[in-house]
Amino acid sequence: MNDHNILHDPAMFAIWAHVDPSKLLRAAEHLASVSTLSVPQAYQIAKQAAAEQKMTIVWEFVWYSETARLAVHLPAGFIAASAVITQDSVDPDTSTFCQVHGCFYFRKCGVCSNDHLPLP
Ligand SMILES: [Zn+2]
Repeated sequence: MNDHNILHDPAMFAIWAHVDPSKLLRAAEHLASVSTLSVPQAYQIAKQAAAEQKMTIVWEFVWYSETARLAVHLPAGFIAASAVITQDSVDPDTSTFCQVHGCFYFRKCGVCSNDHLPLP
């Protein structure tokens, strides 16, 4: 079986960033607002990410054309300059970086291969 036989969804993108340790509640409120987590659950995730200095997903299922704007306008609770763009939600620590499109990806860059959804 090769890639051409596998049906898959076109790529979407995510924005990751470091939590600001002095604004854990603000980060938690954002994370809870974009997920099914409660604020206390999101707070635990934000607190752990800050303690381990790991990035968390700030926005998910983003159009590629929206990524640059979202990456420079992070919600309160996240360190502005730390934002990175990933294809789907791959961990930027364990994926490849496309120098052309400024995003991390796992198998191939969806923008290079024109395999991502355009803005509707
Ligand atoms: Zn690319």
